[in-house]
Amino acid sequence: MEREAIRVTGIVQGVGFRPNVWRLAHECGLRGQVWNDAEGVLIHAWGSSQVLDIFVQRLRNEPPPLASIEDIFRARLDTPADIPKDFRIVESRKGTPHTGVAADAATCPECLAEVLDPANRRYRYPFTNCTHCGPRLSIVRAIPYDRANTSMAAFPMCAQCQAEYANPADRRFHAQPNACPECGPQIWLQDSDGQRLSEGDAIENAAGLIRAGKIVAIKGIGGIHLACDAGNAEAVDALRRRKHRYHKALALMARDIDMIKCFAEVDDAEVALLNDRAAPIVVLDACGERLAPAVAPAQNSLGFMLPYTPLHHLLMQHMNRPIVLTSGNRSEEPQSIDNQDAQQRLDQIADYYLLHDRDIVNRLDDSVLRMADGHPRFLRRARGYAPRPVLLPDGFASPANILAMGGELKNTFCLLQDGRAILSQHIGDLENVDTCQDYQHNLQLYRQLFDFMPSVIAIDRHPNYLSTQWGRAMAAEEGVQLVEVQHHHAHIAACMAEHGLSQESGKVLGVALDGLGFGDDGSLWGGEFLLADYRGFQRLTHFQPVPMLGGVQAIHEPWRNTFAHLLDSLGWERVVEDYPQLEIVDFLNERPLVNLQTMARKGLNSPPASSAGRLFDAVAAALGVCRECAGFEGQAAIELEALAAAHFEHQANFAYGVELRGDCLNWTPLWSALLKDLADGVAPGIIAARFHQAVANAVATTANGLCRQHDVDTVVLSGGVFQNRLLLARSSFLLREQGLSVLSPIATPANDGGLSLGQAVIALACC
Ligand SMILES: [Zn+2]
Ligand SMILES: [Zn+2]
Repeated sequence: MEREAIRVTGIVQGVGFRPNVWRLAHECGLRGQVWNDAEGVLIHAWGSSQVLDIFVQRLRNEPPPLASIEDIFRARLDTPADIPKDFRIVESRKGTPHTGVAADAATCPECLAEVLDPANRRYRYPFTNCTHCGPRLSIVRAIPYDRANTSMAAFPMCAQCQAEYANPADRRFHAQPNACPECGPQIWLQDSDGQRLSEGDAIENAAGLIRAGKIVAIKGIGGIHLACDAGNAEAVDALRRRKHRYHKALALMARDIDMIKCFAEVDDAEVALLNDRAAPIVVLDACGERLAPAVAPAQNSLGFMLPYTPLHHLLMQHMNRPIVLTSGNRSEEPQSIDNQDAQQRLDQIADYYLLHDRDIVNRLDDSVLRMADGHPRFLRRARGYAPRPVLLPDGFASPANILAMGGELKNTFCLLQDGRAILSQHIGDLENVDTCQDYQHNLQLYRQLFDFMPSVIAIDRHPNYLSTQWGRAMAAEEGVQLVEVQHHHAHIAACMAEHGLSQESGKVLGVALDGLGFGDDGSLWGGEFLLADYRGFQRLTHFQPVPMLGGVQAIHEPWRNTFAHLLDSLGWERVVEDYPQLEIVDFLNERPLVNLQTMARKGLNSPPASSAGRLFDAVAAALGVCRECAGFEGQAAIELEALAAAHFEHQANFAYGVELRGDCLNWTPLWSALLKDLADGVAPGIIAARFHQAVANAVATTANGLCRQHDVDTVVLSGGVFQNRLLLARSSFLLREQGLSVLSPIATPANDGGLSLGQAVIALACC
């Protein structure tokens, strides 16, 4: 009989790993022990070498649903005389923990069956969970991950729950949030004055109020949502008005896939994504029956998710239509997580509140994905995914601990240690005071959870980003090295890292298209072709810089970019002379053009920007899309894509021209042709499609030429503009046709939510 020590690392604690080991060991007839320690799970097993091999193979192939094995190490041990009589789970051994915490997971089928079974003691209990499902990161205060360190500490387990918790053969063995109606959290419904409505079932009553057109705040896993009937136009309008949220699409929850199929197209990959244990919002093409128009104005898509807690399942059982389920906040603030705070902040928004007494410790927004170019792509990575690590290629397991602070918008931060990158959940735009507090809270929590002391801090080069300023201050305070990383270089490096490119893999041609980032020459960039590796980059080509008339006002008022682009490419006199009858010319003539021209000429409050985002703004506004005011960065581009979608395929041969002049992509031919199309009365959707084709052509032709010139065979496409799936799919197709390998973000968002990963790997390569 042999004796082996088997070490398992990864997410293996708090996910039912030891009972799984126990079961497999019993099935294989092994003897020994398993326990948790600082590094993960350690097993000492006695058996024949053949059986040990089978056991390790099954360990790897049959993990419990929430576990994620990084590595299994085996070592032969001397066999002592006292061979154990059986296989046991033994007490955890303390030490400095490195194992982290699992992500929150949607209710598993077994738990759901119990909740729906009138004979079960958890019948209709909204907080039912087990080792395969339920809250994790959202309830953790500290490590080690056990009940005392979560917001379940307030609920001592009853005898029955305790018995489940202690039984290795039970699905709830060591399920830290284990609870039942006897001992666990309770739910209630209250009105806007804080009066509890004690009659009847709180969840059923809440559903009745939603059906009656009311807005109900609902406390979920990672935050408090606002819910209303998505088919009730008045209710959805009221929700938007009260929330001061006028533009961004509202998320929806449907009872099941069949309900979603009444309103949207869903293919197999999307069904799988919707059913994933992360239960994200999946953006789908709208078709079939209509919901209230204000759910997703000027878009042909809908963002759906399925119920992911028993509470949601029970609620949706009483709904025969989808509900809007959007974050409980006033526009731009972070989502409310606290009962008291919600009642204050949502006072003018919610009619009723469905609350419970389990604290949400860690705010987690719903994650958002959309299929593009054959893969699910993150628009927002949060609940269900964070804090799952992104595994890095070999060579990144250096002793340096790197903290990357992220960007300004859609912020995330990243901890890099032991060859793993732990990306925080989406935190949001750091322009908001409460979001800044949330950032600090999360950073402190993650440092504690992962026992992380930075030895290097990486920041964006933009001097005005708050994350940059905090990183600078922290580096000075803690006496650690500071590394500044260029914004677009970070976009490209993040994508290289998640695709496993090693530090020795050579250079790639990175195409980074986004709104704005601080360039190495002090100007604003956003349409960049970079020859890059982790250590550095060379800016080979870029979009023609065009002044942002009025600085940030150009982001809020897309028409300013139309004027700037026309001024720059054709000259205003020529436009007026050639196209006096155009509606956009009339519109612009009503603006203070003389002032704007002076500003542009003298460079007053008109920073030049080679931004792809502003080009999309300019074209959208020319077509009358999102012209006068953009509610959020990227709105014009999203609406322009929606407009182009139906015509895109058919316009491949009618793309507008783009000209490479020196190291600049020049848009003069594009604007000439576009204005002519406008004058000829070509439909805006067709113009939008021709524009998308033009940008895809420009990306592919330019990148292909640069690859040949510099002997590179890999193109990386990233930056927020590549969330545009027409552009991503077409550019990728054209580049692959040239025999090039094309990489684009899958594990992280292409937008600034992925920046921190890029900052971290660049900092590691540079120090
Ligand atoms: Zn479960
Ligand atoms: Zn109980």
